[in-house]
Amino acid sequence: MSKNINILWFRKDLRLNDNPALVEANLNSEILPIYILDTCNSNEGKMGAASKVWLYHSLKNLNSSLDNKLNFYKGDPIKIINKLIKINNINGIYWNRCYEHWEIKRDKEIKKKLTEKGIQVKSFNGSLIREPWEILKEDKTPYKVFTALYKKAYLFSDIVVKTLNKPIKINFLYKTDDFNNLDSLKLLPNLPWASNIIRDWKVGEKEANLKADIFFTKGIKNYKNGRNFPFKKNVSFLSPHIHFGEISPKQLWVKVNNIEKNENIEHFIREICWREFSYYLLYHFPHLPTANLQIKFNNFPWKNNDDYFDKWKIGKTGYPIIDAGMRELYSTGYMHNRVRMIVASFLVKNLLVHWRKGERWFWDCLFDADLANNSASWQWVAGSGADAAPYFRIFNPVTQGQKFDEDGLYTKKYLPELKNIPKKYLFNPWEAPEDILKKANINLGVNYPKPIVGIKESREKALSAFRQIK
Ligand SMILES: Cc1cc2nc3c(=O)[nH]c(=O)nc-3n(C[C@H](O)[C@H](O)[C@H](O)COP(=O)(O)OP(=O)(O)OC[C@H]3O[C@@H](n4cnc5c(N)ncnc54)[C@H](O)[C@@H]3O)c2cc1C
Repeated sequence: MSKNINILWFRKDLRLNDNPALVEANLNSEILPIYILDTCNSNEGKMGAASKVWLYHSLKNLNSSLDNKLNFYKGDPIKIINKLIKINNINGIYWNRCYEHWEIKRDKEIKKKLTEKGIQVKSFNGSLIREPWEILKEDKTPYKVFTALYKKAYLFSDIVVKTLNKPIKINFLYKTDDFNNLDSLKLLPNLPWASNIIRDWKVGEKEANLKADIFFTKGIKNYKNGRNFPFKKNVSFLSPHIHFGEISPKQLWVKVNNIEKNENIEHFIREICWREFSYYLLYHFPHLPTANLQIKFNNFPWKNNDDYFDKWKIGKTGYPIIDAGMRELYSTGYMHNRVRMIVASFLVKNLLVHWRKGERWFWDCLFDADLANNSASWQWVAGSGADAAPYFRIFNPVTQGQKFDEDGLYTKKYLPELKNIPKKYLFNPWEAPEDILKKANINLGVNYPKPIVGIKESREKALSAFRQIK
């Protein structure tokens, strides 16, 4: 007798371990593993260029761990799934949940349509420690303050987190009639940028676990403090792996649970919980990516100067820590968290460019571009979000550079044209005497830009703009 066939729909869970949908789909059934590039339903969720590059490599990796049995499709998921059901003896469809508004809407519709046809549809939590709808305040409204949510739902000592092993025996089926191969999804642009940007990254489940294990024996040791310094190796670089589900937050939680507790471990868990908070906000406030959570910001007098915005994007603002960050972003698909905060503050406050524009640029350039984390973080910096940084906290790019990249190791890596400038003037080259600039081979306005705005004046303008909406 032929066995039942279950479809396993891979989405942002590109791994075999700790994959609840896989474990359940595997019970007494053969599995038809599919990936669909949804070209019909996403709007703001449409993937950026860097994400597509990562996705390509991640899918390639997953496919090889499935002995090349992953079936690739492009188009409208419901049509594709219906077709699969027509030509195969499908019993059920299994997936791990996604949390972007359009994904929730799409999945609900698919679930309804398939259930009506008698197909079993089962969805699971594969991306979060806790589901956002599980945690509400006493008055049944959602939390808006991180610490309150954290204390209520995520205290390390209070919750037991378990992970699932990859099933020992899985029978993956391949292939359906009209499958595409990975290349036909056309995720990679025909540009040298696409191969350069991924050069220093290793993608996939195995690499993600290896990276986590190495980080938990080394970099984590000084995480709480070291994570502020962009040249130090005290951050995990796990964000793209987490975003695409090559490793789950539960797996990380369990891994750190095996290490003796200290302030560094606790701080790492706290950051994982900031991710949970972003997803929580996105779930309860689906307009998070497009609209200010604090509506008074709807009247904020943004200036949106295109010239400033373009210079910010390419790292030509004349402020070395900003320019280094923006060039790191464009050339590596990543930017250190401290620098993300500095460049974002500079854009929305000193340049008075709307946070949505910065958010979209990050979205296109980051390997870890994540609608929840990106929009929550941009709103946090802009001051318009839930539990946001106060608007008057405006990062000074000179003192931030001096404090967090004292010797310029990070800044000079991305701005080699400044490699000979003495430390004293690295973050404020316009204040250096002529002879020092000459000796360092710097011709301001020629081989390194003059500052596009003055720090003091632009800060004053930002504060005065804020006073208008107070
Ligand atoms: C303006 C701005 C935009 C951002 N956009 C994104 C984004 O698109 N995608 C994204 O994953 N993160 C984003 N972040 C949050 C943070 O900068 C990155 O998660 C972090 O730098 C990733 O590097 P890491 O994995 O080495 O971090 P680690 O310090 O090693 O942290 C481990 C994990 O914890 C989570 N995490 C850490 N810091 C935060 C944070 N502040 N908020 C939410 N989760 C956090 C991430 O999943 C991260 O991979 C943004 C921050 C800012 C200020």
